[in-house]
Amino acid sequence: MRGGISGMIRRAGEALCEAVFPAVCECCGASLVRGEKLLCLQCQYDMPRTGCHRDSFSDIHKRIAAPGVPVERAAAMFHYVKESRYALLIQRAKYNDRPSIVRHLAGMFARELEAEHFFEGVDMLLPVPLHRRKLLRRGFNQSEEIAMAISTVTSIPVGDNLKSLPHSTQTRKNAMERAANMNGTICVTDPEELAGLHVLIVDDVITTGATLLAAAKAIRASSPTTRISVLTLAASKLLY
Ligand SMILES: [Zn+2]
Repeated sequence: MRGGISGMIRRAGEALCEAVFPAVCECCGASLVRGEKLLCLQCQYDMPRTGCHRDSFSDIHKRIAAPGVPVERAAAMFHYVKESRYALLIQRAKYNDRPSIVRHLAGMFARELEAEHFFEGVDMLLPVPLHRRKLLRRGFNQSEEIAMAISTVTSIPVGDNLKSLPHSTQTRKNAMERAANMNGTICVTDPEELAGLHVLIVDDVITTGATLLAAAKAIRASSPTTRISVLTLAASKLLY
């Protein structure tokens, strides 16, 4: 089961904190009024949205374009500008043990995308995996938190078919690892499960796109009939 006991304890702790401390906007610090949650209306309004899911070959598609790895739909909620208050939301969730922040944002985004039929025909959400060492250190996988929040809105199941491999995987020994892409950072654990499905790979931030591409390549290499789309909460500007 995704989340498990530690996830339940974490959620209870977060809920307790939210009940005890006065609610302020995570972005600007203003007191929240009735009906606002996590972000004030002004910060929601000012959020630098990408709108890229309406583009059939967006900037996100370009970053992860590779021969033989077609990516159908791509969505990113907002532009990630380093040190901006919106970028700090992601940082705070990740490093200050506040996954409820990304869950809330993902829920908001999922409701919007659902209204625009973005999830139509998508069979499974696949969070980008976190390497076991990082998972132990952080206690949660941000991408998984995002995927679970999307699942709550859409009822699309969250799969655990992607596995992070050690980065120095030069000597690959088994079929599972051979299916990994050139970078060898991600592999598919059960290719048969993905056959014929349309999967949505989920991550928190796309920068160069290398991680999402590694995941897409691993899926395509092990299960050529799988259709692939991607979703991130944020997209950083590329420095060309
Ligand atoms: Zn605000």
